[in-house]
Amino acid sequence: MARAPFASPLAEELAGDVLERFLRYVRIDTQAAAREISRPSTEKQLELSRLLVEELRELGLADAELNEGSAVFVGLPGTNGAPVVGLIAHVDTTPDVTGAGVSPLVHEDWDGAPIELPGDSRQVLDPDRLPELAARVGHDIVTSDGTTLLGADDKAGIAEIMAAVAYLVRHPEVPRAPVRVAFTVDEEVGRGAEDFDLEAFGADVAYTLDGSGLGELEVETFSAKSLRVTIHGLSVHPGTAKGKLVNAVKLAAELVESLPADRLSPETTEGREGYVHPHRISGNAEEAIVDFIVRDHDDVLLEEHAELVRALAMQVNEREPRAHVEIEVRDSYRNMRPYIEENPRVVEAALEAIRRVGIEPKLAITRGGTDGAVLSAHGLPTPNLFTGGQEYHSVREWASVQDMAAAAATIVELVGVWSEPA
Ligand SMILES: [Zn+2]
Repeated sequence: MARAPFASPLAEELAGDVLERFLRYVRIDTQAAAREISRPSTEKQLELSRLLVEELRELGLADAELNEGSAVFVGLPGTNGAPVVGLIAHVDTTPDVTGAGVSPLVHEDWDGAPIELPGDSRQVLDPDRLPELAARVGHDIVTSDGTTLLGADDKAGIAEIMAAVAYLVRHPEVPRAPVRVAFTVDEEVGRGAEDFDLEAFGADVAYTLDGSGLGELEVETFSAKSLRVTIHGLSVHPGTAKGKLVNAVKLAAELVESLPADRLSPETTEGREGYVHPHRISGNAEEAIVDFIVRDHDDVLLEEHAELVRALAMQVNEREPRAHVEIEVRDSYRNMRPYIEENPRVVEAALEAIRRVGIEPKLAITRGGTDGAVLSAHGLPTPNLFTGGQEYHSVREWASVQDMAAAAATIVELVGVWSEPA
């Protein structure tokens, strides 16, 4: 069986550097923490940020810095005065799965057999159940050992940007628009664009390298809110509780039970369908908290979903008036599509870059958020490019070296496209 070819000679040239960087970056634990007030939510994220500053300076990019907003910023001059192109990826990984002690494995020239992860025999990447994997026989597949996530989300994006920047530094003759790079923290807890200094960044358009499947450009995200329902009960010693105890645990369960069973949940929806998702429940008889995320591509429907949770919580309170129910709603991010549509060249240039790497581009929608959604709403149109990583936020996360190399090549082509007249 022949090893899978690279998408282009440029992709082949970049592959070694992308892989080497990727294997180095995933070993650094950068797990973010939810509902932390501090910034960044975990100090360890900055370990990777500082390494990236060092590596950028070693490339000769002396202005690389870790700025006040906890982002790494660096610039690369263009070969002409074209619009300034921003490239963005995030150093943090999801709070949901541990990222400590990642031990990456490269399954070279993968033969198509199920990949058993050696650290946990229950974790198997079965091509029969993973069509994206099944299509990558002959690729070099990177996985974790099954006990941690891999961290391709978003260290694949970081390795690809770094390899592309290193290539551009080595090849000053290659045409490119002026480039600005940002590596952010806390994207996974919805705070990636917090304190992002758009003026200091100075890009006219930007791309996050935080997508997934080969050739995809995501131009549409959910609009998102988070909702916290706090139920105050009345705790009394169970021995003398008759007629007095108001059990917040039971009321929280009642609220969750009252949600629609066969619709409006992540497990029953796809495409543009929205949902309400109780993702965390905590507390005791005195006080219980149910945390929800609420998502929809349509802002009007998003309001309706949030209203549904509020109404159900109020009904719980009406049935047990001795309890006290509080609801806190926060806006997380907005669908970026309308902002991106204002500047069609942002999408056209990316599609052209993907084609130049020899890949058929696909416009995709994402059922999640990106830093780009927030930045787009703040005036910097920022769609999301593929990275080649798959099965994110899972110990079965994997990435194809060939696809990651194609993403790095896409970046080089992209800044080339932007250097050309519109
Ligand atoms: Zn990500």
